[in-house]
Parts: sequence; C-alpha cells; structure tokens
Amino acid sequence: MRTAFRRIGRAFVACTLAAVTTLVGVVATSSAAQADGCYTWGRVLKQGVVGEDVRQLQIRLAGYPGYGGVLSLDGSFGPATRSALIRFQQAYGLSADGVAGTQTFNQLYALQDNDCTPVNFSYAELNRCNSTWSGGAVPASTAKFNALVSMWKLQAMRKALGSVPITVSSGFRSYSCNSAVGGYSNSRHLYGDGVDLVGSPSFCRLAQQARYHGFGNILGPGYPNHNDHTHLGAIGGWSAPTCGI
Ligand SMILES: [Zn+2]
Repeated sequence: MRTAFRRIGRAFVACTLAAVTTLVGVVATSSAAQADGCYTWGRVLKQGVVGEDVRQLQIRLAGYPGYGGVLSLDGSFGPATRSALIRFQQAYGLSADGVAGTQTFNQLYALQDNDCTPVNFSYAELNRCNSTWSGGAVPASTAKFNALVSMWKLQAMRKALGSVPITVSSGFRSYSCNSAVGGYSNSRHLYGDGVDLVGSPSFCRLAQQARYHGFGNILGPGYPNHNDHTHLGAIGGWSAPTCGI
C-alpha cells in the first residue's frame, strides 16, 4: 500500500512539474503573440493606425460605441474606435488608455471562440432557419458576418447586464423562414443582424440596455407585435413605447 501511494505521489509530482514547465512555456511565448484559433494581433493598435487588424478589433468593439452610437468597421483607428476601446477596457477592469496592447488582446482572446464568435453566443444560435445562411436579402457570407457583429454587440450587452445569460429565440431568416413566422418583409432577420430576445432580463431592460451597444434597430413592448420579445438589429430605428423608448 505504502509503495503504491509513493508511486502515485511520484507520478503526481512528475505531472505537476510537467504542468509548471508547460505554463512557463506559455508565459514565455505570450509576451510576443499568443496563438489563437480565431485571430492573433501582431502589433499595438492606437489612434492613427489603419489596417485589417484594426477592423478585427472594431468588430469586437462593436458593442461599445456609447449611447445611440454605431461603430464604423472601416479599419481606421479614429477617435470613435479609441472611445469604444476605452469603454471595453473599463468594462473588463483593464487600464483604460485607449491603446490596444497585450492586456486588451489577451482579454479578447479569452472572449472569442476559435470560429471568432464571442464565448457566450454561437452561429447555430443565431441561425435556426438553415445552416447555409442563404436565401435572405444579402449573400450568405454577408448575413453570417452581420450575425457575427450582432453577437459581439450582445456580448457587450450581456457583460453590462452583469454577465447574465441572454436568450436568442430567432436570428437569421431566409425569405421562406421569415414569411413562415410572419416577419416583416424588410426585417433585419433577412440580413443576418436581426435578433429576437426572450426570457430574462425583462424585455424593457433588454431594450433599454441595447441603446448603449450599437443596435440601430430596437423594437420592444408597446411596438406592434413586440410585446412578447425584444427585437434588435443593426439599422431601422427604435420603438418600445412601454419602455420609454
Ligand atoms: Zn425580430
């Protein structure tokens, strides 16, 4: 028995040492650039910088434009991107300097899955209509991208609400899926960015919070056919009279 325990003990020590060695290895390489299954940034980004890496940052900051704002995903790091980055850094307790470096990138790596969706939302959740994203008002790749941006907005909103789960009952719809559920003929669901939220928090709480996270389209209680969910999308205006919107 004693020998067996000793063996287990030795094996445990060996495993622990191996784990420590692995951790040291990870720490040593992360100062340069942390490998990530989705996207890895290779330089510090600050105001004045232009490029695809800025656009990738903007997609993930889309939920931080401030009240009533929409962040442009143009790959150009201007004052609006800087303000959005500061809000993101504040939300996650990072030093809010408006410069995206190791701290910011590591937080983003922690927040994204290998398919670039934020950890708490998925493409499957945003498309219960089909698996191809085709048949809507825009090409499939556009619809899928629009859904991705909506997910990053929802992730920001979720964080602001205290990291409570947010339930999406409907996202992308082809024209046939949209008419089957009686959706409006110009619905944002046809473009991939429309999302219907149900459950808790309350519909009004969701609609009110959404105003801060880049949703140009908010329809909720008091708007026709929206007393049983809150609808969010990229563009189209706000109306939720029962909620004071
Ligand atoms: Zn809707």
